[in-house]
Formats: sequence, C-alpha cells, structure tokens
Amino acid sequence: MIIDMHVHCGIAEPFYMPNSMVEEMIEKYNIDHVILSDIRACENTQELTPVPEDIALPQNQVFRETIAFASKHPGKIYVMPWIKPTTDGVDDEFISIIENNKDIVKGLKLHAHNSMLRSDSPLLEPYYELAAKYSLPVLIHTGGIEEASAIYVYNAAKSHPDVNFIMGHLGLGTNNIEAIDLVSKLPNLYGDTAWVPIQSVLYFIEKCGDDRLLFGSDSPIDGLDTYVRNGKGEPSLYLQYFNDLKGLISEESYDKIMYKNSARLFNI
Ligand SMILES: [Zn+2]
Repeated sequence: MIIDMHVHCGIAEPFYMPNSMVEEMIEKYNIDHVILSDIRACENTQELTPVPEDIALPQNQVFRETIAFASKHPGKIYVMPWIKPTTDGVDDEFISIIENNKDIVKGLKLHAHNSMLRSDSPLLEPYYELAAKYSLPVLIHTGGIEEASAIYVYNAAKSHPDVNFIMGHLGLGTNNIEAIDLVSKLPNLYGDTAWVPIQSVLYFIEKCGDDRLLFGSDSPIDGLDTYVRNGKGEPSLYLQYFNDLKGLISEESYDKIMYKNSARLFNI
C-alpha cells in the first residue's frame, strides 16, 4: 500500500501537470491514495515576482476546481488547498468549501517559498484557526529562501499545539539535519519525504522514531514518471524508497512511512 501525501496538479509555467497526468500516474504506479495541491494557486512566479493579475487565479476558485476533480475519484484522491495568504486569505467561501467537503479536504498547503512568507506570520492565524477547528494538518514547503526555513514551521507548531504541522522536504537544499532535529522536539511536527534522500530517513528514525515521517513526492512535477526519473532523465530517488529502503529499516517502520502514518494522520 502507498499513500503519497504530497502530489500536485495544475499547469503554471514551467510546470505541466494536467489532471489527466495525475490520473495516469496513480494508475501506472499503483498508488492507493494521494493528497493533491493545485499549483495554479501560486502567488508568485518561479522568479518570485507576483503572478500577473490577468492570469492569477483566486485561491477559492482553484480550491473548488481541485475538489471537483478529486470528487471524480472518491477515496482515491484527496485535497489540500494551496493557500494564498498574502493575496486572498480566509473568507466565508473558503470556510464553506471545507465545511461542505470534509471527506475530501485533508489539510492545508502553504508554499512558504513561493509565497515568500514565514510560517509564523500573523497572516496565517486565520488558517491555523481553521486547521485546529477542522483537524486539518498543515503542510508547509521548507527550504529555498530564508522565509521558508524550518525554524519558522517549528515556531508555528510550538505556538499551535492543537494543529499538526508537516515540514515538506525537511529543508529542501539542505542536508535535512536541522529540520529533523527540530521535528524531534515537538509531537505535533511531522516531516515528508519529498526529495529527501534515504540516508536522511535513517537519521529521522534515529532522532524522531518512525511515527512522524510521511511518504510524499511532489509527483508528477517532473512528468508522469517522476517516481522513476527526475527532470534530467536520471534515476529518481523515489526508486530507492520503492526498492532499497525496505532492506534498511524494519517492515513495520517501512509500512508506517509509506502509508500507515498518513492513514492515521489524515484519517484515510
Ligand atoms: Zn510540493
């Protein structure tokens, strides 16, 4: 069984991930459940300049459309709306989409790098209130720029003990050690495996145990075959999760990372 809790869809320069690609990926790689965030709700371009107004899509519109796609695959595709705290924020419509789709909405996703926003920013308080009220874990991209540092996710988790936080990537572009050390300090902090080498999984288990690491991939960010090939055509590190990790940790730890921890955390 595999639950991939960090999957994307959407077409936004330079990424091409139509919904059909997500469907094909799930089928081809036998993924049992995915949690999806639509990148079309990004607030900034890859160059970190605001998405031009004539092409920017409202947070709630993207949320509704992602729900509409997921609802064609009940019990298979779930949704974490990509939030736009600096341009849109929480309003009645956002709340009612969550309220009306409790069986599909499994969390909230903040891209701290793209939004250029610290996870402990006051702008996020209304989202964290909702996360507490509806028991929605908050997935936050870590790494890339100062605002997306792991320490700010730690701060947010520390001041919101009633919300579970997930450090996406465990500090992308780092050796993961600082992020893992921070995760070890709080029971409501988790990590995902998106672009995390398996040596860091071993360190994670040593420092934090095996209950708070979740398989996630960013797939299909490098195309349909992200699980086997990266954007440069090299073997993907996820092959190591499917092939090598089994021999390095206990079967129980492996199952927890690949699906059991997500099943528990997201109530899947
Ligand atoms: Zn991602």
